[in-house]
Amino acid sequence: MKYVVLVPDGASDEPVQELGGRTPLEAAAMPNLAKMAARGEVGRAATIPSGMAPGSDVGNMAILGYDPAEFHTGRAPIEAAAMGIELGDDEVAYRCNLVTVSPEGTMVDFSAGHIPSDLSHPIIEAVGAALGGEGIRFHPGVMYRHVMVAPRALAEADCAPPHDLTGQPAAPPTGPAAPKLIELMESSKPVVAAKAAELGADATQIWLWGQGTRPAMPKFSDRFGLAGRLVTAVDLIRGLGVLTGLEVVEVEGATGYYDTNYEGKRDACIASLSDRDFFLLHVEASDEAGHNGDVDAKVEALEHWDRRIIGPLVEALDAMGPHRILLMPDHATPLHLRTHTPDAVPYLLFDSDVEGPGGEYSERATASATPVPAHELMPRFTRA
Ligand SMILES: [Zn+2]
Repeated sequence: MKYVVLVPDGASDEPVQELGGRTPLEAAAMPNLAKMAARGEVGRAATIPSGMAPGSDVGNMAILGYDPAEFHTGRAPIEAAAMGIELGDDEVAYRCNLVTVSPEGTMVDFSAGHIPSDLSHPIIEAVGAALGGEGIRFHPGVMYRHVMVAPRALAEADCAPPHDLTGQPAAPPTGPAAPKLIELMESSKPVVAAKAAELGADATQIWLWGQGTRPAMPKFSDRFGLAGRLVTAVDLIRGLGVLTGLEVVEVEGATGYYDTNYEGKRDACIASLSDRDFFLLHVEASDEAGHNGDVDAKVEALEHWDRRIIGPLVEALDAMGPHRILLMPDHATPLHLRTHTPDAVPYLLFDSDVEGPGGEYSERATASATPVPAHELMPRFTRA
């Protein structure tokens, strides 16, 4: 048996006026998906446990069969794993953005103008040289996204994600570790200012948030008896692969955006199934379209899924033998809200050997179903 999980990030939505009151999933031409749904099982799954932030880290953890309420400690340790950072049991990882804060204290830009890596790395290195030591170290990442590792004693704090503060006062952390965190952020200002002036960058300081200790996630193969791989352009999902022992496959042209290499991801999946039985294929484009409020791009991303991934993939799987497919987004990213919501999402379970109850894969068609916790689907999906 081959097992394939398909994750169209943020695909779930709400009725859209421009689409005549249909959702993108209803408006998109997805004949291959419809065929699977007609003889599979459709329902609703809660990917975001109540009270948790509706992020891709939480949603994809649930899809992989790990209850986020039990295993999620923060997003930074997942990103740290993706960056190859070994986090000790006595350490905590913080996301460390390079941001732009105005002299009046307003969060102008959570990304310091989407600062490129060749400018951000020397700045973070200067920050590390000035503020590192005593168990604190800085790891440069991609663009504005870096990581600070600190002693576990600094884990207790409430920190606002900088993208939630855009145009508002840059509210500092609160809680027991706040004084040290505020000291680090304040002390970074002259260091960042000097280096940014030299390089012509917009960054003014570091911003610490999203912290967590190393999550104690058992290996996917121990938990579900299957070895596998995954493909994604998103660091958080890459990190989940590292933490669960699912090998991360690199695909050229996987951009995390509209123009991603759909065929490359599909072919990587098909190739991987020749010697591993499990594969997770993630595409970010639908989420990006949601954040941009771009109706056409979201519909188009879903049609790309159907035509460029699902159709040819199912054909290849048919030739391989018995297979199961689990398709679900990690959360909803409604176009009119342009951000994630914690609402339950439609799921599809398909087994080539079993004639299911059948149905239609859409938000409306599954609206009356009682949501199941999403992490409970993986044990069902992989059961012999
Ligand atoms: Zn997501």
